[in-house]
Amino acid sequence: MYWSHPAPLQAMADSPLPGYHWTMDPLNWIAEELAQLERSDLLRSVPPPLGVQGATVEQAGRRLINFASNDYLGLAADPRLTEAVIRACQQHGVGRGASPLVCGRSQLHDQLELRLAQFLQTEAALLFPTSFAANAGVIPALVDRGDAIYGDAKNHASIIDGCRLSRAERHIYSHADASALEQLLQTGAHYRRRLIVSDTLFSMDGDLAPLPELATLAEKYDAMLMLDETHAFGVFGSGGRGIVEHFAAAHPELSARVDVRVGTFGKALGVAGGFVCGSRGLVRWLANRARTYVFSTAHPAALSAAALAALDIVESDRQRPAALLAEAQALRGRLQQLGWDTGRSASQIIPLRVGAPRAALQISEQLRKRGLWLPAIRPPSVPPRESLLRLGLTAAHTGPMIETLVAALTEVESGNRDRQ
Ligand SMILES: *Cc1c(COP(=O)(O)O)cnc(C)c1O
Repeated sequence: MYWSHPAPLQAMADSPLPGYHWTMDPLNWIAEELAQLERSDLLRSVPPPLGVQGATVEQAGRRLINFASNDYLGLAADPRLTEAVIRACQQHGVGRGASPLVCGRSQLHDQLELRLAQFLQTEAALLFPTSFAANAGVIPALVDRGDAIYGDAKNHASIIDGCRLSRAERHIYSHADASALEQLLQTGAHYRRRLIVSDTLFSMDGDLAPLPELATLAEKYDAMLMLDETHAFGVFGSGGRGIVEHFAAAHPELSARVDVRVGTFGKALGVAGGFVCGSRGLVRWLANRARTYVFSTAHPAALSAAALAALDIVESDRQRPAALLAEAQALRGRLQQLGWDTGRSASQIIPLRVGAPRAALQISEQLRKRGLWLPAIRPPSVPPRESLLRLGLTAAHTGPMIETLVAALTEVESGNRDRQ
């Protein structure tokens, strides 16, 4: 209960007074919902602020080895990016004043779009505020009432929200299962348009989507194919071009069959901001119909400058992603030998699958005490009973840091076994 006007305690006692009345707090339900989350070990809290992103981070005066980050190439605090931002701010100022279509689009936005299209060898590219915004805007621009979407059961939340925002019918196929997808496609010839959408590298399991099969099905059933390369961009494929390129070596026809590619600068490239690559027609359509593009302020030109600098590094240092993936493979093997279940991981994202959310929280806490940060990932980020610790390996992690991790995971694993 609360007073709808601030009232001295004395006035409350003398109620009813003109202008004062008891009301139910319309947000009362929140406290109950939060308590319920806490009872289920699903409560999340905003962490204390962190220092500079890197292989180690400082939190509340403590330095932790950071295996929580998606800064896969270790670029987030690279001085070349910082320099690019400073220079761009001096030349372009900070804010852009409006959405790109109104007056927000700078020379650097233009350069970055051209560069992306060249890099991924597509006709065109379009920048979005984030790749969450890209997914939320692109999907409803492609399909509507009378259409159908076919999505992997483990697609990212932003894809799911994009699907919900469209008025198309949604069909979910079991994770990375092309034959389940085909069964769904077989019975859907009556839809006006159809869209297959999938992550290429799954953000929690670290496994790859079966892209050649998805592309074949898209062609066979005359569906559009949209792929989210967010975690793969900068890491997989020739020159960091993503998983479409990774598979293109064995399936040269693949690139041409992918209609929409979504990526981010926020992960391996160490900056922030999303983008979509595809045909000129697609980009023109999105600039008309993707509401998160049309109705959102253009990001600072300095962000484009930083992304361009990050692309320069990715293009000049091809060793970095290859070394990261080799290191991840070696580490995965060692963790499996210790008894950890790493699922289908085939990338720099290595889940340590534990099942119950409480177990994930406890292990994460034990590791934190040893100076390591691996976040506990719980529903709704993963399905019920699939809680895990998410290990993100980056190019900035050193040999000794990895040894510290393996030693801690050895102790924690044998501790778990003793308890069973
Ligand atoms: C992180 C993530 C996004 C969102 O990217 P942002 O640019 O950070 O908004 C989109 N899709 C997938 C698969 C992701 O993992």
